[in-house]
Amino acid sequence: MTWKDSLKNNVNSVDKLKAFIRISPEEESDYNTIAKHFPISSTNYYLNLIDPEDPNDPIRKMAIPSVEEFDMDGDFDTSGESQNTKMQGLQHKYATTALLLSTNKCAMYCRHCFRKRLVGTKTNETLDFINEAVSYIREHEEINNVLITGGDSFLLENHMIEAYLKELTEIDHIDFIRFGTRTPVVFPERIYSDPELLGILDKYSKRKRIYIVTQFNHPNELTEEAIRSVQCLLDHNIIVNNQTVLLKGVNDKPDTLATLINGLVKNGVVPYYIFQCRPVKGVKNQFQVPFDQAYEIVENAKKQMHGHSKRIKYCMSHETGKIEILGKMQNKMLFKYHQSKYAENHGRLFSVSLEPNQAWLKPENVKFNEQ
Ligand code: SF4
Repeated sequence: MTWKDSLKNNVNSVDKLKAFIRISPEEESDYNTIAKHFPISSTNYYLNLIDPEDPNDPIRKMAIPSVEEFDMDGDFDTSGESQNTKMQGLQHKYATTALLLSTNKCAMYCRHCFRKRLVGTKTNETLDFINEAVSYIREHEEINNVLITGGDSFLLENHMIEAYLKELTEIDHIDFIRFGTRTPVVFPERIYSDPELLGILDKYSKRKRIYIVTQFNHPNELTEEAIRSVQCLLDHNIIVNNQTVLLKGVNDKPDTLATLINGLVKNGVVPYYIFQCRPVKGVKNQFQVPFDQAYEIVENAKKQMHGHSKRIKYCMSHETGKIEILGKMQNKMLFKYHQSKYAENHGRLFSVSLEPNQAWLKPENVKFNEQ
């Protein structure tokens, strides 16, 4: 069976979910309503990681709807993606990076997704024509790397993945190409069972360096199969980086976070970011951890990490840039621009007196005197 056949067996209705967990009639009705707005879909592989006896199972939290998704507090575009869109499917926020929204499909629709507005729904945000995006990138010589994401870029067919790689590796000023994909975590057979994909990645990695950016959020996701998919990528000259999202009820314990990050390093995955969960509608109040608690969790996790694991940066993807959450001093939280949309903010350090339970920076927190 190919990965495409496997995907046809995805669990995409509340009724089918009953094979994996107990669902009450009230929950069934609520989940059906939620699914009309935020679709359900998961691989059988990922749902089999859930402990059906544990209502607080972390994999369950990420894969199964919750009535908390009815909570529409927040926003759908928390990082200003619409402002950075230069053409359909192409975003250019930081000078050196172009981001391509290659698809709106994923092997699993994460309940905490920050692109809930588009995954699995009708959208006109994804790229229709590679050539136009390639022309834009060719004309902007300041761009030295491209992130192909979505959705999940490894849900693209192999010939599409090859088309991106062929075009982009021919551009002199591109140093490296990244694929944003959660398939190592939620659908590892997509990688280890497809020698054609691995061959394509290997071939083009000899022209330009290729990175996979994935998202392991809990140690239970580090299964033999997931590790096998990572090893296949490593064996084919691909560097694997991980971005963990800090999620209430999933990984908001120092031990859990430390076990995850140390486990990633043990298996050859570079820990890249721990991201503050974004205030997305249907996500914010279910998954966000306030800054001061989140900072303590990350710092206490670091006590159990060696230097390689501590390469992570605890950051937020704010509308104005990628901002590192550095720590507390005299009742204020310190922040630093790691990447900035505006040149005058590069490397800027600033402090904020946080409001109780504040979990995201407000416009007034990032207004500086000289602006
Ligand atoms: S794989 Fe990524 S884009 Fe897809 S639903 Fe999960 S978080 Fe969202």
